[in-house]
Amino acid sequence: MNVSEIVHKQKLYYRTGATRRYEARIKQLDLLKEAIRRRESEILEALKIDLSKSDQEAYMTEIGILFEKISFVSKRLKKWMKPRKVKTAKTHIGSKGYIVPEPYGSVLIIAPWNYPFQLAISPLIGAIAAGNTAVIKPSELTPHVSAVITSMIGEVFDPAYVTVVEGGVEASEMLLAEPFDNLFFTGSVAVGKLVMKAASERLIPVTLELGGKSPCIIHHDANMKLTAKRIAFGKLTNSGQTCIAPDYLLVHESVRDAFVTEYEKAIKQFYGKEPLLSDYYGRIVSPRHFERLQSFLTNGSIVLGGETDPESLKIAPTLLDEVSWDSPVMQEEIFGPILPMMTYKHLDEVIEAVNTRPKPLALYLFTVNQSVQDRIVEQIPFGGGSINDTLMHIATPYLPFGGVGESGMGNYHGEYSFTAFSHMKSILKQTNAFDIKFRYPSKTGSVMMRRFMK
Ligand code: NAD
Repeated sequence: MNVSEIVHKQKLYYRTGATRRYEARIKQLDLLKEAIRRRESEILEALKIDLSKSDQEAYMTEIGILFEKISFVSKRLKKWMKPRKVKTAKTHIGSKGYIVPEPYGSVLIIAPWNYPFQLAISPLIGAIAAGNTAVIKPSELTPHVSAVITSMIGEVFDPAYVTVVEGGVEASEMLLAEPFDNLFFTGSVAVGKLVMKAASERLIPVTLELGGKSPCIIHHDANMKLTAKRIAFGKLTNSGQTCIAPDYLLVHESVRDAFVTEYEKAIKQFYGKEPLLSDYYGRIVSPRHFERLQSFLTNGSIVLGGETDPESLKIAPTLLDEVSWDSPVMQEEIFGPILPMMTYKHLDEVIEAVNTRPKPLALYLFTVNQSVQDRIVEQIPFGGGSINDTLMHIATPYLPFGGVGESGMGNYHGEYSFTAFSHMKSILKQTNAFDIKFRYPSKTGSVMMRRFMK
């Protein structure tokens, strides 16, 4: 089947109403959960081949998290689907207003390679919950995971409801030329712009989950042991190939050395003396990505790590010092286990440095000082973040996840996944019991209008 046929069939299927009943949505979510459960070892195996992910990390970030999401959504879906009453304005006395969440129809989900299973299926949960049909385009860079997704989805769903189209840029481009009702893209800023351009041709609403350089600020009063451990967790999970990984450090000059000592200890605790040999430490996705990262190692002086293994495509956890804002490592998203470190004296320097660059997807701040926390949250725009932690804001279903400016638009997770794939249709139901006349042309109308609307 070519992509036009797929989309056409999905549109016909959507029009039958089969995707919209509450019971049908819950059933499909259950089927999806059971399919993931059945395929658990296959998924883990594929993640090991494509990215060398350990079972523990893969279960936490790619499988367990999806079970949690499906349970969370299923428990609350009935409530979310109900029309929501709104207040009546004094200009509208007699009428009632309500909002009906309506599925968009047929949605396209384009996924990246770094969490190749989770980032293809997580948006799908929102799309199903909201009553849509979906086409998933997984990443070509993680072919084993893509194959599992294709076979799993093919086993569970009618292709007129949910299907997978594998392939690279060409497949994506073909899909982007189709009249979908909604696009959900996770990937790089550069491709995000192309997706938005394609969407603009048909005025298709888009969610863009992009990336960028997420700063991590360590103030002088931070608890250094915990700080270093939590930064190591955030930076080294999936070998730094995480959209919200701390990209670079802004550390108060008085605690720079203490941080280095504790970061080294944390790495040893997680991955032993030789991280390149650790089963818990993942690899870089491709030789091309490996070489790009390797070239960053000369952009400063290496304080820790720096070892690489082109055979296994692994790069040791590395701390870089003496980097300049103009060097390549500070010009693009790193997306690997290399952490450049810059020091500051005053918080103003931090705010100025971050605010003169594109709005980041995430920001991390380590301090126990409430006024510093308030100041950073108030004065620096960013998608979302954690105070005294890294990554964890992404894992709660109660917080919307998404970027701002160059790091993306729109958000999802929890109820926000439902709204991301729903149009909020506004309805005003008027009374016929009486008719307020002053909206109609007349002299008294014009007097009354001025009395009411001021
Ligand atoms: P990418 O933009 O290269 O690819 C993403 C998807 O787009 C893939 O499926 C790919 O096949 C497709 N694609 C590539 N080129 C295309 C083109 N010219 N036209 C249409 N489609 C195209 O991103 P990636 O390398 O897979 O992922 C890494 C990026 O994704 C990083 O920037 C990272 O920060 C970001 N990311 C963001 C999130 C988030 O939730 N915000 C999550 C994971 C990754």
